Amino acid sequence: MAVPKKKVSPSRRGMRRSHEALSRENHAECPNCGELKRPHHVCSSCGYYDGREVVPAESVKGVVRS
Ligand SMILES: [Zn+2]
Repeated sequence: MAVPKKKVSPSRRGMRRSHEALSRENHAECPNCGELKRPHHVCSSCGYYDGREVVPAESVKGVVRS
Protein backbone atom coordinates (compact mmCIF):
# COMPACT_ATOMS: atom_id res chain seq x y z
CA MET A 1 0.00 0.00 0.00
CA ALA A 2 1.32 3.41 -0.91
CA VAL A 3 1.93 5.53 2.17
CA PRO A 4 2.79 9.26 2.23
CA LYS A 5 6.43 9.83 3.16
CA LYS A 6 5.77 12.88 5.34
CA LYS A 7 2.80 14.20 7.28
CA VAL A 8 1.27 17.16 5.44
CA SER A 9 1.26 20.19 7.76
CA PRO A 10 -1.97 22.11 8.33
CA SER A 11 -0.44 24.99 6.37
CA ARG A 12 0.34 22.84 3.31
CA ARG A 13 -3.08 21.21 3.48
CA GLY A 14 -4.69 24.67 3.57
CA MET A 15 -2.64 25.79 0.58
CA ARG A 16 -3.78 22.76 -1.38
CA ARG A 17 -7.40 23.49 -0.50
CA SER A 18 -7.24 27.17 -1.37
CA HIS A 19 -9.04 26.44 -4.65
CA GLU A 20 -11.84 24.39 -3.09
CA ALA A 21 -13.91 27.26 -1.73
CA LEU A 22 -17.52 27.36 -2.89
CA SER A 23 -18.53 30.37 -4.90
CA ARG A 24 -21.73 32.27 -4.26
CA GLU A 25 -24.76 31.12 -6.19
CA ASN A 26 -25.80 33.61 -8.82
CA HIS A 27 -29.17 35.33 -8.48
CA ALA A 28 -30.92 38.06 -10.44
CA GLU A 29 -34.05 40.05 -9.76
CA CYS A 30 -37.20 38.75 -11.43
CA PRO A 31 -38.50 41.46 -13.79
CA ASN A 32 -42.10 40.44 -13.02
CA CYS A 33 -42.27 40.23 -9.22
CA GLY A 34 -38.85 41.45 -8.07
CA GLU A 35 -37.95 38.28 -6.20
CA LEU A 36 -34.44 36.94 -6.57
CA LYS A 37 -34.36 34.12 -9.11
CA ARG A 38 -31.69 32.03 -10.78
CA PRO A 39 -30.75 33.23 -14.27
CA HIS A 40 -32.27 31.22 -17.15
CA HIS A 41 -34.69 29.56 -14.76
CA VAL A 42 -38.42 30.02 -14.27
CA CYS A 43 -39.07 32.36 -11.34
CA SER A 44 -39.77 30.25 -8.28
CA SER A 45 -42.24 32.70 -6.80
CA CYS A 46 -44.39 33.83 -9.75
CA GLY A 47 -43.67 31.21 -12.44
CA TYR A 48 -42.72 33.75 -15.08
CA TYR A 49 -40.02 33.33 -17.69
CA ASP A 50 -39.20 35.65 -20.61
CA GLY A 51 -42.17 37.94 -19.87
CA ARG A 52 -44.91 35.34 -19.75
CA GLU A 53 -46.35 32.98 -17.15
CA VAL A 54 -44.91 29.56 -17.94
CA VAL A 55 -45.97 27.75 -14.79
CA PRO A 56 -49.19 28.66 -12.94
CA ALA A 57 -48.18 30.72 -9.91
CA GLU A 58 -50.10 28.44 -7.55
CA SER A 59 -48.18 25.32 -8.58
CA VAL A 60 -44.69 26.83 -8.69
CA LYS A 61 -43.68 25.84 -5.18
CA GLY A 62 -45.16 22.36 -5.47
CA VAL A 63 -48.35 23.35 -3.68
CA VAL A 64 -51.44 23.23 -5.86
CA ARG A 65 -54.22 25.17 -4.20
CA SER A 66 -57.78 24.57 -5.34
ZN1 LIG B 1 -41.09 36.41 -10.33
